[in-house]
Amino acid sequence: MRAAYYIGNKNFQIEPGNAVPPGAGEVRIDVAYCGICGTDLHVYHGAMDRRVGDHRIIGHEMSGVVGALGDGITSLAVGERVVVRPLGSCGECPACKAGHDHICHKLKFLGLDSDGAMQTSWTVPAALVHRVGPSMDLRHAALVEPVAVACHDVRRGRVSPGEDVLVVGFGPIGMLVALVARHTGANVRVAEVNEDRSRIAATLGFPVCNPQTTSSEALLETTGGKGFDVVFEVAGVQQATDLAVAVAAARGRVVMVAIHSKPAQIDLFRFFWREVELIGARVYRPEDFDEAIHLLGDGTIPANLIITETVDLDYIADAFAGAHKGMKTILAIGEQS
Ligand SMILES: [Zn+2]
Ligand SMILES: [Zn+2]
Repeated sequence: MRAAYYIGNKNFQIEPGNAVPPGAGEVRIDVAYCGICGTDLHVYHGAMDRRVGDHRIIGHEMSGVVGALGDGITSLAVGERVVVRPLGSCGECPACKAGHDHICHKLKFLGLDSDGAMQTSWTVPAALVHRVGPSMDLRHAALVEPVAVACHDVRRGRVSPGEDVLVVGFGPIGMLVALVARHTGANVRVAEVNEDRSRIAATLGFPVCNPQTTSSEALLETTGGKGFDVVFEVAGVQQATDLAVAVAAARGRVVMVAIHSKPAQIDLFRFFWREVELIGARVYRPEDFDEAIHLLGDGTIPANLIITETVDLDYIADAFAGAHKGMKTILAIGEQS
């Protein structure tokens, strides 16, 4: 068994280790692939050192095969292809008790607060494991976690067929939100400043505009002046928040997907004037994982277009250094059946 440890300052160290035998209620997974997420890049750049420390196996966008079962596990079998929903909740706080354990007050994220998937053998609670079925390509299955984020965002936005939707920011998550919203039957438009990303949006068939050169009035015109029923803010900058609020329809919903590390300003008068709703959306529920597996399985999500690079774990440093260039870089971790 081998594992990649983040040791601080953009460095990783590959170390041999011993596979952790699964305890009661746990399974050991032979990890096949693990995608590099925006959060992992934050870790790499040192922005989360206080949280992860300097000897942490990161990674959560994974796929693999069940290698061993702990006592009491009857729902899974050795050899099944699986992914992990990397959320540890306490079960006792007000959010957990209300049935919102994905936003547990003490939520522990596997791959940040405890060791994650950038290791050949990962032992996790069986309750977090989702089967992807024997026919799914394990490379594609490494996209289930980010697709589940998009499924949750679209669900939170209550997107329905025929609605006008604007996605502000076309990074990996913005792209997935746009694809899932379109699958729901909405008319989806994209606002993106980066030329490469705009080109990908156009390739996928989305009308796209650059908000630095297109006025919000011109954007409103694309909906006949009505405004967008749902706007997803996936850019995390003040201008994106301004745009999202400016182009929301009467009784429109603005879904805040981006992580704003500083408080952003919001034109609250507009919320009053047009009865706009602001909706938070964080991680996912089990049903979002089920939907993501379905959408990847039937090709609604074009996995081959999204995965721009697959890099062996031995070259993890190069993979992280170049990850910003494409849409999604995937690490090949262990045996790929
Ligand atoms: Zn992620
Ligand atoms: Zn809790």
